[in-house]
Amino acid sequence: MGQDKEAFKTRVHKWAEKLNVQVQVISIRSMKNKWASYTPKSGLLIFNIELLEMDDDVCNYVIVHELLHNQAPNHGKLWKSLMTAHLGDYKEIESKLKHPS
Ligand SMILES: [Zn+2]
Repeated sequence: MGQDKEAFKTRVHKWAEKLNVQVQVISIRSMKNKWASYTPKSGLLIFNIELLEMDDDVCNYVIVHELLHNQAPNHGKLWKSLMTAHLGDYKEIESKLKHPS
């Protein structure tokens, strides 16, 4: 299927609005070892360009995962409950998401 960068950014902005997270810069580029990174302090979000070829639910997973680190810096109880609230059974999506090639 595939989507372009602008569509992906629009998706990120929608989630950011929904989750009430400030996003300053969204960068989509090739990344070696991860799907995304987020620096809450500067509002910088970087996404792996390979995500453009992946399913919607996987993209949503990665986006929400990073944005929630704004409120929950680690993957503890709070993060898990927010993930479930927004994505439902996120672990199932997680299992589709292997390491970037
Ligand atoms: Zn994380």
